Amino acid sequence: MSEITTSGPSDSALEIAAAVRAGERSAVEVVDAHLAQIEAHEPAVHAFNVVMAEQARAAAADIDARVAAGEDPGPLAGVPVALKDNMCTNGVPTTCSSKMLDGWKPPYDATAVERVRAAGAIAIGKTNLDEFAMGSSTENSAFGATKNPHDLNAVPGGSSGGSAAAVAAGFAPLALGSDTGGSIRQPAALCGVVGLKPSYGAVSRYGLIAFASSLDQIGPFTRTVADTAALYDAISGHDGRDSTSIPEPMEATVPHLDDGVAGLRVGIISELFSGELASGFEPEVLAQTRAAADALAAAGATVDEVSVPSTIYGLSAYYLIAPAEASSNLARYDGVRYGHREDGAANTGGMMTASRTAGFGSEVKRRIMLGTYALSAGYYDAFYGKAQRVRTLIINDFDRAYADYDVLLSPTSPCVAFPFGAKSDPLTMYLNDVATIPSNLAGHPAISVPFGAGRDGLPVGVQILAPMLKEADLIRVSAVLENAAQESAA
Ligand code: GLN
Repeated sequence: MSEITTSGPSDSALEIAAAVRAGERSAVEVVDAHLAQIEAHEPAVHAFNVVMAEQARAAAADIDARVAAGEDPGPLAGVPVALKDNMCTNGVPTTCSSKMLDGWKPPYDATAVERVRAAGAIAIGKTNLDEFAMGSSTENSAFGATKNPHDLNAVPGGSSGGSAAAVAAGFAPLALGSDTGGSIRQPAALCGVVGLKPSYGAVSRYGLIAFASSLDQIGPFTRTVADTAALYDAISGHDGRDSTSIPEPMEATVPHLDDGVAGLRVGIISELFSGELASGFEPEVLAQTRAAADALAAAGATVDEVSVPSTIYGLSAYYLIAPAEASSNLARYDGVRYGHREDGAANTGGMMTASRTAGFGSEVKRRIMLGTYALSAGYYDAFYGKAQRVRTLIINDFDRAYADYDVLLSPTSPCVAFPFGAKSDPLTMYLNDVATIPSNLAGHPAISVPFGAGRDGLPVGVQILAPMLKEADLIRVSAVLENAAQESAA
């Protein structure tokens, strides 16, 4: 097993920003240190589709000039941030790791990108993903897979595998990813970093290339819980350019980092821990989840198991709803409105067919076919309609659980990082998302926090779930788990 995470810059984003704001460290020096780490290890990891070296150096020089002029460039001043390559970046190629969008340069920044920049962070590159964010291993990228920095023979998870690997490898202390069914939390777990999926509507989706619009959310990857809190606070909040953006002000999470868990009621989701479904989870993953529950109890929380019965149908409902929405969202890539164009066909229909055939990879085509079928007349009620009813059941079951519990706990992923090619049939791959999907269907926030090691010493993540807009509770619980994990490793 070759591992590279032990080298390179390890300062947290908050440490870097404090030093840059105080004029003790230059942002240019910070960026250069991270670019040096990228130069040394990116060929082995392949976290990026594009490294924005020149733009990053120029942005860093600007931050330094502002500090010298007595300005405060913001809470993330001078901190490199890696951006999943499905977020629009003005003038910088944005591909979704698809041949369909290869070479496309958006004329604007996504709101989340705009906000990290406004907070002083410096975009350092665009990260690799499963094509159009469909996958759980980053093996579906049209530009080659990303490797897990903890074991270069294993996947980093997906679909935001490049963002998770970039943070784990010391390429950037911060990254943004998107999570439709687990694509932030699962790669965070497999790469040993923190990953937060915010409440649906907490972070603007403006400029995020749509996969399944009722599920997609942008969120942070970091090495520390405090950095996740700071990055979430920077990107969350209302945006008039996203019609599903929540108008009410979001609660800041940073002030809750040290709240602790005394008196907090924690429920372990039994379906994802002791039920039949969980019998397929790796025993080490379940053992670490138990250890995390014990750590919370030791810190003053009350911990019980609670049943959230319809979670077991989440996977089936998701793999109808998400492909249905994707089939509609991806209709725009027809060689005319957007995307790759194959010329030479006899007519427009032929050109569109040829363009889509050449531009999309096989998993994307599978989803488009699944979704089109689920939405077709005659099957709509039986598949799409039924899945939407399951979605309502899941929301109701969570509401019942949250009447008695403040937060819920489960493993993030059934397994640790697996070897390339190990899950070659789609169904086996889809099973990776069984623990993460329910919170997307409900719209609730959830976080993955590294907690110890599993098979072959690879990182394990535990997932905390909370009701709508209770990100602050996720942060306070995560901070306790982070401490406990460090203590037991020491
Ligand atoms: N792995 C899931 C899928 O393939 C989730 C993807 C995501 O969250 N973007 O659809």
